Amino acid sequence: MSRSAHPAGPRHADVLPEGHYSAPAADLNVLDEKVWSRTVTRDADGALTVGGIAVARLAEEFGTPAYFLDESDFRARCRAWADAFGPDADVFYAGKAFLSRAVVRWLKEEGLNLDVCSGGELTTALDAGMPAERIAFHGNNKTVAEIERAVEAGVGRIVLDSFQEIVRVAHVAQRHGVRQRVQIRVTVGVEAHTHEFIATAHEDQKFGIALADGQAAEAVRRALSLDGLELIGVHSHIGSQIFDMAGFEVSARRVVQLLAEIRDEHGVELPEIDLGGGLGIAYTPDDDPREPHEIAKALSDIVTRECEAAKLRTPRISVEPGRAIVGPTAFTLYEVGTIKPLEGLRTYVSVDGGMSDNIRTALYDAEYSVALVSRTSDAEPMLVRVVGKHCESGDIVVKDAFLPADLAPGDLIAVPATGAYCRSMASNYNHALRPPVVAVREGEARVIVRRETEEDLLRLDVG
Ligand SMILES: *Cc1c(COP(=O)(O)O)cnc(C)c1O
Repeated sequence: MSRSAHPAGPRHADVLPEGHYSAPAADLNVLDEKVWSRTVTRDADGALTVGGIAVARLAEEFGTPAYFLDESDFRARCRAWADAFGPDADVFYAGKAFLSRAVVRWLKEEGLNLDVCSGGELTTALDAGMPAERIAFHGNNKTVAEIERAVEAGVGRIVLDSFQEIVRVAHVAQRHGVRQRVQIRVTVGVEAHTHEFIATAHEDQKFGIALADGQAAEAVRRALSLDGLELIGVHSHIGSQIFDMAGFEVSARRVVQLLAEIRDEHGVELPEIDLGGGLGIAYTPDDDPREPHEIAKALSDIVTRECEAAKLRTPRISVEPGRAIVGPTAFTLYEVGTIKPLEGLRTYVSVDGGMSDNIRTALYDAEYSVALVSRTSDAEPMLVRVVGKHCESGDIVVKDAFLPADLAPGDLIAVPATGAYCRSMASNYNHALRPPVVAVREGEARVIVRRETEEDLLRLDVG
């Protein structure tokens, strides 16, 4: 994909500033299906519709900013992952990407399992009726109270992340007279980001227990020795927004090696391995994510091959996609408030939300795309930066993109692929009211997480 610093047709500049942007699409009115959820289209009047409902109606009924989640797309993606991995593997949706009771019910109905990583996520999952045995509990510093609740509820697995936790979970389980099923999270020395991965001997980060210096083998020894624990497998999660399967290949090979070492030392073949999540999605048309069936085949081929080489029974595989399921299913709808053309640079377009509803651009330098969605336009493309209304110059939603030059206050614009890590990381900065999540399906729209109100803010502030 070519990225040009001098794309054709900008309005406000003869020479465009340096930036990570591609040339504008040939027709800004075309909604690239790669980045929009499946039921998104333009109606006869040129307005974007999702689930058959036009954005103007959605904005009128639910206000802006707001997240609109395409429920049938979400369910279809759940089914695609479950079908791709089949009955001999387990798909856990990573709830931290976005979790609500409605989402839990959809997951349950579509046959997925659920990862949680806090007491709050666990409560949401249980409250919405997810069977505890389909829940996995993660985190590098679960409190004893959280462990108690997870064990009492009977969660299917707790993923152990430290030596202290091995002992804590064993104690809690023994006190409750149960054997808790657990996995040990290992760091395999692979760091994967988008188009590259780095294999290192040692990982300088807070998660997991290192394979490299024998720590993971020691953790296995301890877990096997404690009555309160039933060690069912090994877990590895190598990064996020990954397109290159080579990182998973290295990770799977190292995890299988550990299983072989465990067999040689203890005479047990652990029945499961979890290869984590982190599969990438298209935020802009430049991104080329893989389909679930390609990912499933690649992972199962790697594991099968490595197990044959090590003469191990092939373990049951689990994966934990979060972003890859919910990310593409939602967009954020904003109203344009102010427009500032900076001669020779770009045009700043301010919307009625910002870093409080999408922190990823500020936090990770994430890239997004954006479109004018309340109408079509034949105007020339102009280079824009979509910014929020917060008191922070880093309050950027979309760093570099093109919108039609006749953009005006009151227009609705939408940022696609905001289903993951946007509402779940939303903040009240500047006492912003966190936007609602509205599920849209077959001509019906309903709020699944309501908009915060000023009363909500004052209720927490007890004076
Ligand atoms: C965050 C996380 C995931 C999900 O990552 P995505 O990039 O959303 O797929 C899965 N497993 C673990 C352990 C995680 O921490």
